[in-house]
Amino acid sequence: MNSSDLLNLALPHVRALHAYTPGLQPTESGWVKINTNECPYPPSPRVAEALRREMGEEGASLRLYPNPTSAPLRHAIAQLHGLTDAQVCVGNGSDDILNLLVRCFCEDGHRAGFTLPSYSLYPVLVEIQDAGAEVIPFDRSMTLPVDRIAASTAKIVFLTSPNAPTGVGFSNADIEKILRSFSGLLVVDEAYAPFAEENAVNLLTRYPNLCITRTLSKAYALAGIRVGYALAHSEIIGLLDRVRDSYNVNRLSQAAALGALSDSGYYEAIIDKVKETRDYYINDWVSRRGWFTYPSQTNFIFTEPRNANGETGPAVAKSLYDFLYAHKVLVRYFPSHALTASFLRISVGTDDEMLVLHDTLDAWAKNA
Ligand code: PMP
Repeated sequence: MNSSDLLNLALPHVRALHAYTPGLQPTESGWVKINTNECPYPPSPRVAEALRREMGEEGASLRLYPNPTSAPLRHAIAQLHGLTDAQVCVGNGSDDILNLLVRCFCEDGHRAGFTLPSYSLYPVLVEIQDAGAEVIPFDRSMTLPVDRIAASTAKIVFLTSPNAPTGVGFSNADIEKILRSFSGLLVVDEAYAPFAEENAVNLLTRYPNLCITRTLSKAYALAGIRVGYALAHSEIIGLLDRVRDSYNVNRLSQAAALGALSDSGYYEAIIDKVKETRDYYINDWVSRRGWFTYPSQTNFIFTEPRNANGETGPAVAKSLYDFLYAHKVLVRYFPSHALTASFLRISVGTDDEMLVLHDTLDAWAKNA
């Protein structure tokens, strides 16, 4: 059998798929890596303690499968949010949860809705199911198209709040307006909510068609451990449990997540520090250069660079991206959409990393 015969065995829509493109993960050191919204600070020391305890002397516990439902972790998450354990499902990152939701609610002939620009994994997941997509566009103001989402007839709509890559947060008042009219499941992807002014958790009791997804990758500094979760009505959680892998969260990840969740004081301090750096950076550095930047409720900023001639646009953004890259400062550029192509997304780093960024921006601005 040759390779094209082999490919022809696969489903036609799978053959035509384009995989999600993750941000670059360089393996060599020396980069200021502010491209994938990881936390610039290490996780709580309780994470390493929990991992050591779980491993034991010789990693003997690793012989054994993990808790299949991540029950102790579900319980800790439920306690954290004032919910019942039955309202929580844990995943291998929140990407796993988003994938499960798509598997439960989307198939050929059913449309899934999502806003654009937003997290670019949603269309990929929807395509994997060979389902239709209802794209709900933002305009440059990035205000939430409330009426448009409320009137959607899709079975499921994904809304990122605060949004990525713009950083703009949406109010509970607007989310509630949608929930009052929308007859499908509204998934509010709150990956960045710990950095925001509001979150939608207290709407869960009133709106059974709301599902919130969260991650430990950003605020909890655990992107490498892959833990995310869904908060929803127990019937929705029951559906996710029917389609997930039976051991979808490994033993070490469950232990690490429990260690992190037990140290809220540590995380409050680093979240405050990230927000302070973000606001300082937006107000004192970027805006002073005359660069338009959306108000951020996340751990990143989305800014429209201006060159020495005062010009903005995709070529200017690309030139800055390339200049930063050549100086080993890695940020994220999204050229594929008109509303993002003139911008760069910069994750909040440590003070030292932000200083390197600042000096490199200065060097670019002089030459550009
Ligand atoms: N949602 C959004 C909006 C994100 O930006 C990300 C991170 N790329 C995720 C979900 C996925 O996070 P996780 O690491 O939990 O899979």
